[in-house]
Amino acid sequence: MIGIFGGTFDPIHYGHLRCALEIAEQLELSEVRMLPCGQPPHRTAPQASPQQRRRALELALAGQPLLTLDTRELDRPGLSYMVDTLASLRAEVGERSLCLILGQDAFNGLAGWHRWEEVPELAHLVVISRPGVEQPDNGPIGALIEQRSVESLDELRARPAGAILFRSVTPLGFSASGIRRMLATGRSPRYLLPDAVLDYLLTEGVYQNLN
Ligand code: ATP
Repeated sequence: MIGIFGGTFDPIHYGHLRCALEIAEQLELSEVRMLPCGQPPHRTAPQASPQQRRRALELALAGQPLLTLDTRELDRPGLSYMVDTLASLRAEVGERSLCLILGQDAFNGLAGWHRWEEVPELAHLVVISRPGVEQPDNGPIGALIEQRSVESLDELRARPAGAILFRSVTPLGFSASGIRRMLATGRSPRYLLPDAVLDYLLTEGVYQNLN
């Protein structure tokens, strides 16, 4: 089974990395592809350039072969729709199980995504806990959970897509926006992200003096 961890990664931090590694181990994934969003359809453009986010990811992933970098959304022109990304991945992996890993906040917003109903047809959804974020029990997401939620890993292995699995990971209550704010206000986010990434961001001057 292959994991897909999409995100703006503006910047990549230990919340992303720790979740990706814990889910890779819990689900015995052969790899987790860290997939930076090119042009996010549902939020303002990232502050760091695509090149800076890509370089930061390369630095963050060095020496961890389980987590790989997939730049297809950075390389593709236009808005980055996950449904297109999953379709292109599905064309490559055939019938292997694909697991789209989402934080609970991202999953709760799924019904706003472009052609969102196709997303669970293309991959399993693995939803990870995030401090302070509740799970909806009604609306379209509540209904989706009702229809597709499973308890065991075997159900993800048994078919290529279509199930939703909830998993807990070590709670890490910080975010990229918090890190951007620290840098913009002259505070240090050290120990919330890899030193090599922070040093690179400081050298580039990205996020500083922006607010
Ligand atoms: P921002 O603060 O800019 O919104 P973010 O920290 O939420 O950024 P994203 O790149 O938007 O990071 O998130 C990518 C994915 O990682 C999403 O599915 C999100 O839910 C998840 N994620 C990010 N940080 C954490 C965390 N600390 N714990 C669990 N999941 C997280």
